[in-house]
Amino acid sequence: MKSRYTKLINIHWVMLAVLFLSLQGKAVASESAKLTPSLSGFCNKLEQRFKKYGWEKSDCESYSWLTYRNSVLGDPLTWTVFGDASDEDKPSFKQKDVSIIMCGVHGDEITPIKFCFDIMGYLRATYDDPKLKEEFANKIVIVAPLVNPDSFFKGRPTRVNARGVDVNRNFPTKDWTKDARKLWISHFRKDKRRNPGLTASSEPEVVFQMNLVKRYGPDKIISVHSPLTMLDYDGPNAVVDGFVDGTKAHELLIQMSKDASDYKIQNYPFFPGSLGNWAGKERDIPTYTLELPTSDPAKSAQYWKLFKTAIHKAIAHDLKDPKIVEKVAPEAKPEVSPDIKPSISTTEDPSSAEVAKTSPQLIN
Ligand SMILES: [Zn+2]
Repeated sequence: MKSRYTKLINIHWVMLAVLFLSLQGKAVASESAKLTPSLSGFCNKLEQRFKKYGWEKSDCESYSWLTYRNSVLGDPLTWTVFGDASDEDKPSFKQKDVSIIMCGVHGDEITPIKFCFDIMGYLRATYDDPKLKEEFANKIVIVAPLVNPDSFFKGRPTRVNARGVDVNRNFPTKDWTKDARKLWISHFRKDKRRNPGLTASSEPEVVFQMNLVKRYGPDKIISVHSPLTMLDYDGPNAVVDGFVDGTKAHELLIQMSKDASDYKIQNYPFFPGSLGNWAGKERDIPTYTLELPTSDPAKSAQYWKLFKTAIHKAIAHDLKDPKIVEKVAPEAKPEVSPDIKPSISTTEDPSSAEVAKTSPQLIN
């Protein structure tokens, strides 16, 4: 009788344990169910493209995405955060070194999109690595791997967004109203690939980039494009008349080039409405435009291998500068858009860039 009673108790314990475990499972499931139908659809489309280009899986669904607004055609404009940004609204966050990395600003530049996912995979492993944890303790990295999804998801990817606007020519730079459309009409003969739009910051993909910058107040921005085979810098203490000064931002530029087999550094002209102009020139945020050598998807692995060290060191390279922080601070608060409810969190992002200085024939 006694043993039967004990058996019964044991069965109850087993049942309780099973119930507990199943509830645990549910908790985990709802944690990862942060993936909304919109994000899930986005990840599915992305995975199909990765397959088409012969790339390994993106693991898109495994990342914690933040999204606040959609592209013109309704895909979520997303970013993910590496490092502890839980103190984002507190003064302590200002002490952290923040990098924003953006890819897929121009959807027909195929290789940068895979490049950002390679960075994300690498960062995920890095932040989990006890040896590297310390080096990255004070580092926040914001990655927006596909700034312009509409242009990438088209049957035949395009440079411009769904409304035919180049989202690296639509930033509200000081010269935009006066020069953007004039230059496009007179100099570029209304080249459809470079259409700056009818008004500055008219495109959600541009507002997205701007708000990322405003929200996180980055110490540096890296925007990845292709296929101009160069590294360009815009920002404080820019290279003047070929003279490279000794600022930390320039040291990083040179370091990145060295780490990538002396990759070509070129001071490319910037255009009205470009990220380099808006963030680098007008806001003094060191902005690096990395132009990969080609848009050939078969070369993706090769490019990641070439730039892995440079990207690691760029993130680790502390550009924290009190003067720069001071300059960006007034705009650093997240924008509240009453029209769009955050689907996951209340953040926005920004960035895009492309710079052009010497030969307007080359466009990034
Ligand atoms: Zn580009």
